[in-house]
Amino acid sequence: MKVVVVVGGVGGARFLLGVKAALGLPEIGEGPPDSGHEITALVNTGDDVWMHGLRICPDLDTCMYTLGGGIDTARGWGHSGETWTVKEELAAYGAEPSWFGLGDKDIATHLIRSRMLRAGYPLSAVTEALCDRWKPGVRLLPMSDDRVETHVVVDDPDEPGQQKALHFQEWWVRYQAKLPAQSILPVGAEESSPAPGVLDAITGADAILFAPSNPVVSVGTVMAVPGVRDALRKSEAGIVGVSPIIANKPLRGMADACLTAIGVETSAEAVGRHYGSRKESETGLLDGWLVAEGETVDVPGVAVRAVPLLMSDVDATAAMARAALELSGVDLA
Ligand code: GDP
Ligand code: CA
Repeated sequence: MKVVVVVGGVGGARFLLGVKAALGLPEIGEGPPDSGHEITALVNTGDDVWMHGLRICPDLDTCMYTLGGGIDTARGWGHSGETWTVKEELAAYGAEPSWFGLGDKDIATHLIRSRMLRAGYPLSAVTEALCDRWKPGVRLLPMSDDRVETHVVVDDPDEPGQQKALHFQEWWVRYQAKLPAQSILPVGAEESSPAPGVLDAITGADAILFAPSNPVVSVGTVMAVPGVRDALRKSEAGIVGVSPIIANKPLRGMADACLTAIGVETSAEAVGRHYGSRKESETGLLDGWLVAEGETVDVPGVAVRAVPLLMSDVDATAAMARAALELSGVDLA
């Protein structure tokens, strides 16, 4: 079975563990070559940023480390057993930005990536090379090889009456999304193209899932790459989304601040309607929408099913993934 999953970082990576388990694949690492299953993740790269001369791809790395068994599970991002010597040394020089968690082991990944990018390799090829080591068992495709960076427009905290645009990472990590966002823009998206393999994966899929990732700055950014939405709308596979919002709250993180910025209420119903029905709207994406057990949600033209949606462990996540795959119409028996 060919499954395509649209993902961001932590929520996306955890969900991918469950998709692997639902298909009988080992959650960490590669499955047998003859499993007959192929999972492709279309990964948000709008969080990517240059810092200290290094290209950092938070969502790609979170997926790669999580699926390859190298993630710090408590923190949810970065390597396990990480040390911070370089970060401390940079701070001693007064080098900005100082608010970003850049671990020593992680820096090795960024050094290789930056070196390859400077040598002219596209991000998709770089990602493939890095995955040679981690063997995530999922094909990780950046949404685009082109530079797309999410920016957030806020009232300038230092200049009353002025607005300014921050890179998403600065808004999210430095300001913890506490500066109200006036708008959120995927800068560069309009001129970008899908990375090689993205449209073919969508066209060839048996099932397409939206992980319970941030609807605005993860899934929304992937949808901003020209051609992706069209390919999804034309795909013969069923498309099912999983709600990241349970009881009108996001789990971990501040997705509510992003939803507010685009005028969408923080509820499973509002996010389902925001993605929209493939059948009944001109731009809609969903055939099915999974919401949390006990919630009554109506999304016109979309089959809504309520199941437990907490990714508390791999079994629970696999059950979610199974429910999503079944709702998409594939036969898992
Ligand atoms: P990020 O790039 O690291 O911010 O991660 P994603 O965009 O992939 O995922 C973030 C989203 O995952 C948040 O909006 C959370 O609401 C959602 N999330 C985290 N844990 C869970 C969970 O256990 N269940 C569900 N349904 N959503 C979750
Ligand atoms: Ca992210």
